[in-house]
Amino acid sequence: MPTTRPAVRARATGAIRVRAAVAVAAGCLLAASCGVSDAPPPSGSPTSGSPSTTPERVAATPTPASSATPGESAPASESPSASPSPTGPPEFSAKVSKVTRDQLPYSWRPGCPVPVSDLRMVTMTHWGFDDKPHTGRLVVNKSVTDDVVTVFKRLYGWRWPIYKMVPVDAYKGDDFASIDAGNTSAFNCRAATGSSSWSRHAYGKAIDLNPRENPYVYANGSVAHKNARQFAKRPLDKPGVINPGDKVVKAFQQLGWEWGGYWSGPKDLQHFSKGGG
Ligand SMILES: [Zn+2]
Repeated sequence: MPTTRPAVRARATGAIRVRAAVAVAAGCLLAASCGVSDAPPPSGSPTSGSPSTTPERVAATPTPASSATPGESAPASESPSASPSPTGPPEFSAKVSKVTRDQLPYSWRPGCPVPVSDLRMVTMTHWGFDDKPHTGRLVVNKSVTDDVVTVFKRLYGWRWPIYKMVPVDAYKGDDFASIDAGNTSAFNCRAATGSSSWSRHAYGKAIDLNPRENPYVYANGSVAHKNARQFAKRPLDKPGVINPGDKVVKAFQQLGWEWGGYWSGPKDLQHFSKGGG
């Protein structure tokens, strides 16, 4: 969700002079895969619908029927070597891939502040509201792929549910439609609302997480999406809801991402951005 705050616009403008992207994902440029785990991903998300042609790892092995209760079987450890029970959900997996112009038919266009070559598709496991694993995709700046994988691995370990996660191109780049569908997304080459400056999403350095459960709340308490009105208050103890000071906020903060829920005035409860703004 964009913002109209002057401070944010200033930051966005400053970010145009962004430092050369640190080659955090340099290995990914050279290697065919940057998978965090070799464990097979779960069955493809039923929400996958974007025109991606990225060679993604496709589930070849169905998830075995599980009798484990997800909440009880959630591993407390975040160690990369932590393994669920053989009959439990698959381990978290993530793959970072280059993207092409054709994969971003609506979200990128000439004149955007970052070239397509600076963007990556992160295909990774996420927990769902149906208490099952899914595979989702986020398009982000190549400089933040490690951050993204780190945080979403933790979310999965907590069985923290994400409703849906596909690039906004599935909604023709329409931010309102993506939010209305409860879709978690990152890159979208668009200006901040009411501004000629770029949103942090236009750099691939902002993520809107569960936008229905975590709406943009105007200073007067209103929200633009009717289906999100029940989620405007904080704290709120419901699945997929981000609360001040909770583990989700801290997971992002530890990597230098700021939460829009801490803004004064309007609060963008779904919004995390690297370096703020
Ligand atoms: Zn946002």
